[in-house]
Order: sequence, then structure tokens, then C-alpha cells
Amino acid sequence: MVNTYGLHNKNWVKIMYEKRHKWAEAFISGHFFARRRNTQICEGMNKYIKGYLKSGVKLFELIPALDRALLRLRNKVVEEDFRSNNSTHVLTTQLKNLEHHATTIFTDSVFEHVHKEIDRVGSLIISRSMPFGSIRLFFTSRYNSNNLQNEYTTFYHPKDNHHMECSCALFECEGIPCSHMFNIMKHEHMTEIPSSLVLKRWTKSAKSDMQTSIPMNNVPNEAIEFARYTLHINIVL
Ligand SMILES: [Zn+2]
Repeated sequence: MVNTYGLHNKNWVKIMYEKRHKWAEAFISGHFFARRRNTQICEGMNKYIKGYLKSGVKLFELIPALDRALLRLRNKVVEEDFRSNNSTHVLTTQLKNLEHHATTIFTDSVFEHVHKEIDRVGSLIISRSMPFGSIRLFFTSRYNSNNLQNEYTTFYHPKDNHHMECSCALFECEGIPCSHMFNIMKHEHMTEIPSSLVLKRWTKSAKSDMQTSIPMNNVPNEAIEFARYTLHINIVL
């Protein structure tokens, strides 16, 4: 583009090129962004906050309004946690063992995405596989497709906690196993998702297993109890 349009002397282009590792898809692929790679989420938050701010709001009215908005968000999180921990899902895929295991470990909102990946396995085949030292290399393609561009390669480490690395990089970007990994789990007759492919932050136990290292000597008992029962933080005294 620089050559075609003669942009060698444009400062803005030079600066953007220097920062390419922070914005260009080719460079950021494979980096973890906790599912926050587009502006849709912050725009959604802007809209939500505006709902609590009437036009011409005074400065002294602003903080209480923001507090109300935050309180509502926190209540929503507590409701979602309750639903995650106290509801069961109807299993709809053919990989029932893996799907059931996913329902027991992932929160509801993460399970929705994991479920889509499990569902996609139905349209995938392992076109070939080969040993690669102590690991195995699998090639996954779409059923009834001759297009090699749609082929993904996955390294499977049976002796390293069944860890996998896939060329689609979904696990590295979003922290959930991709359909190609689930296809290999099916091939290997696994009934549970390997722990090496479960990101702690997406699990139901992420909060309850959290420990604090804050010295507790001067913290009032009421605050400790609040953290234990409201924030589900496991405090070690
Ligand atoms: Zn993949």
C-alpha cells in the first residue's frame, strides 16, 4: 500500500506501521484478549451508563448515578453466578460426555461458546495424522470439502497433560478449546476436556478458589465476612 500510493513520507503511516504489532490482525493473532477485541463491548457499556444519566445531570448527581449503575451490574453478575451454579443444561450434541463435562466446569456464558465449538465437530473430519516425535500431528478439514485452505493442523501432546495447539489459535486468543481440538478428543475417545485446555478464569470455581494475600490484621471482621459470602473470596487468615 505504501509503495502503491507513495506514502513513504507520511508521518501517520510511519507511526501506524511502527505500532503494527498492536493493531494489525496478522500480528495480534494468537494473543489472549479475554474476548475483548472489538469496540462493541465498550460501546455497549457507554450506552448502559447513559441510561442512568439524564440530560443536564449535575456533578453531585453523577457519582450516585454511577454507583446505581455499578450496583445493578454487580447484581447481574451475582445472578449469573447463581444460575451457572444451580442450573443444568439439556445436552444437544453427540459428544455428550465432553458436553456434560463442559457444563460442569465452565460458567454459563462461556459454555455457550464452548457448546458451539463442540457442535461444529459434526462437520469435521480428520483427513490425516502422523507421529511427530512424542507428539501427534492431526490435519482437520471440513466434511466433503477439497479446499486445503480450510485445513487446520493440531499438535497433540498425549504425555503432556493431553495439551493441544491448533493453527486456528482460538485457544490462545479466547481461552476456549476449538472445534478441531474437540474433533481430536472424539478421535481419542476422551470423555473429559483435558485440564490443560481449561482456562481457570472461565470456570465456575474461578472466584471461590481465589485467595487474597492482603494482611488481615487490621481488617474488620464484617469486611472479611462480606468478602467471603458476597464476593466468594476464599480468605486465608
Ligand atoms: Zn483449531
